[in-house]
Amino acid sequence: MIQIRNLNKYYNKGKTNEFQAIYDTTVTLPNTGLICILGESGSGKTTFLNTVSGLDDFADGTIEIDGTVIKKYGEKKQEQIRNQKFGYIFQNYYLLMERTVEYNILLALSMYDISEQEKEERVDYVLRAVNMWQFKKRLVSQLSGGQQQRIAIARALVKAPSVIFADEPTGNLDEANTMNIMGILKKISQKCLVVVVTHEKNIADFFADRIIWIEDGELVRDEQQEGKKIYQYVEDPHFYLKEFEENKVSEGNVELSVYHREETPKITLKLVYDNGNIYLSTENNGNVEFLTEESEHKVIDSKRPKVEQKDVDQIQFELKPVESAKKPRLSFREIREITRANLKTMGKKKIFLMVVLFFVAVVATFSFREVMSQIYINTEDVVKTDTHLYKISAVRNSGNEAVSSILEERQKYFGQVLEELQGAGYEVYRIPDTELVYEYEGFIQMENYSFELRDFCFVPLDKLSEDSLMYGKMPESDTEVVLDRRVVENLRESASEVESVITDISQVIGNQISTKQGITLTITGICETGQPDIYAGENLFSMLSDGYVADMECYVYADDSDVEGELRKISSVFSEDVRAHLQLSIENEAYNQIESVKMERRSNLEARVLVIAAILIISILMIYFIMKSDANQRMQDLSVYRMLGVPKRNMIGMYVWQNFLLTTYSSLVGVLLTVAAIRGLLDVEYMVFPWYTVPLIIAGLYLINILMGILTIWKLIKLPPAQIAARYDV
Ligand code: ADP
Ligand code: MG
Repeated sequence: MIQIRNLNKYYNKGKTNEFQAIYDTTVTLPNTGLICILGESGSGKTTFLNTVSGLDDFADGTIEIDGTVIKKYGEKKQEQIRNQKFGYIFQNYYLLMERTVEYNILLALSMYDISEQEKEERVDYVLRAVNMWQFKKRLVSQLSGGQQQRIAIARALVKAPSVIFADEPTGNLDEANTMNIMGILKKISQKCLVVVVTHEKNIADFFADRIIWIEDGELVRDEQQEGKKIYQYVEDPHFYLKEFEENKVSEGNVELSVYHREETPKITLKLVYDNGNIYLSTENNGNVEFLTEESEHKVIDSKRPKVEQKDVDQIQFELKPVESAKKPRLSFREIREITRANLKTMGKKKIFLMVVLFFVAVVATFSFREVMSQIYINTEDVVKTDTHLYKISAVRNSGNEAVSSILEERQKYFGQVLEELQGAGYEVYRIPDTELVYEYEGFIQMENYSFELRDFCFVPLDKLSEDSLMYGKMPESDTEVVLDRRVVENLRESASEVESVITDISQVIGNQISTKQGITLTITGICETGQPDIYAGENLFSMLSDGYVADMECYVYADDSDVEGELRKISSVFSEDVRAHLQLSIENEAYNQIESVKMERRSNLEARVLVIAAILIISILMIYFIMKSDANQRMQDLSVYRMLGVPKRNMIGMYVWQNFLLTTYSSLVGVLLTVAAIRGLLDVEYMVFPWYTVPLIIAGLYLINILMGILTIWKLIKLPPAQIAARYDV
């Protein structure tokens, strides 16, 4: 039983074109019987039906279905009830046009846990009942309006629901089919409730157990029907001779029968018989029409047929309600099937979408690499000083009056700087800044060339642990040095000649380096410390540091893990006295080198990120709009699914799966090809493009594409089914 109490429904509520379509309606519908809702076009029949049957929202009032009270549209129990109990026949059919008849009807069963065999039997049964069985494998789009309507009816019948809501179910049918369909509905109304909306009074009169009249959104009359139970065909074009008066004219071999309803005017006919043919002419104004097999009219020598209640009772239709314990929802297999079909019908748009997705994947991968290469700093390229070294120097021209300007005095105070550093436990070094020239011995032709060593830094030998030695041995004399691998590699890369003769870095062991002071150093070993260092004894440092003291700078060697902390610590060492007379600068040069590269990169990066973001945003918008336009085109299908009770999460599932597939076919391929190209073209790329970035980009693209797919239908599927349908209709 359905009890509707004080139901009000508006269209465009709160807007200027607000329109009340149902006024404070209270009515009770029983469990069985055929109820007709009769009213003019626009009186609100469809609105009433959709609202009561849970396809549309309402402003206030309640709908109670078998004891369950629904106070507002969208309650979970409403969706459950409507799936369990209701079947719909829509005014506009709402079929999936590009699917077969069979598929459309199966869809109504696809959410139920019944055997394939039972599904098939049910489909066949209802198709036979509506005389459409022979069209089972046809596409719906290839059927006429009337045929489509019969499919829509079969679809509602196949579940054998306990309530059928039928909106003008025979609007497009001829009378014979109308009789059949209404007969079926009448038949099943013995066991269930059938609510039929119609504007045809004679249909209501004949079939309805009760008629409810609706006018401008109000139920104005409500009557049980008993009386007239004969249905006269009114649109039947045939000539039923028993309806006519008959006059016979007989003359020799010619016998003429004249049938007429009204008084005939004077009819003059001339009949000529010649050579086996009959010729007929008339002087009356009007046509002489020959009735043949194909004619619309037929001459039938009987009474006009009437349909009586007992004829309807003879219609056979018997289908048990679907029994299924499971909650109605589509299986994953079904979702995959639907998605596959959707993609198939997407056509050119799909190709375009895939091209854009591919393009976005390529751009995203390149951009990612760009950004990574900007963020990643290869310290070997940037750092030219040992990171442990802190340089302390006296800055000259200071504006501070107290700071000494007399050289001797400043030198004196700088001596104090050294003492204070040592007092604080720092080892102080005077590290020479000199030019070194590598001398290659081996090829005569190269003896005239000198190769300057670049980007190196002297570090006291005691900082080199023997463990870091790769080749050779530790120095023993003052002019022996150990080079870090990086220094040798820089040398190799500085000139192609050197590169071609030093094929292995260990070859430089025993080779010589000369200083600008004319001292010759011998390379005894190569170490691996990760620093651009040349290790030598401190005696060599003094030998190379002529005039060094006047420069007033020194180095301490300290922990490099917290550079800023170390800088603070060093600066706190100095006494007031020193600080009053000297303006000191304390810096970690390696750190400064990295910082300056970072600064330079940052502005660079900002510009790039901006361009990349713009490209990606435009592409993503493009993807969104293509997807959106596809969703709009699919609006009818979406409303069909929702009207048939496919849960929202299943619809989201369809879009997730669809975009998963699209992403796999386009974005994934795009990323993999781009990565392969980057790796293949630029061999050192793994440094700035570590392997884990690839799954990261791929996951990101899947996420974006799938989210976008959901976004395009999110708002849509949240609407009541009738409103989705209304959007499609306009
Ligand atoms: P019927 O089915 O009796 O022809 P409807 O229920 O379709 O009538 O419409 C009742 C009234 O509500 C009509 O005036 C119609 O213009 C209006 N109406 C129907 N659907 C909408 C809608 N989606 N938005 C605004 N007005 C609507
Ligand atoms: Mg209508």
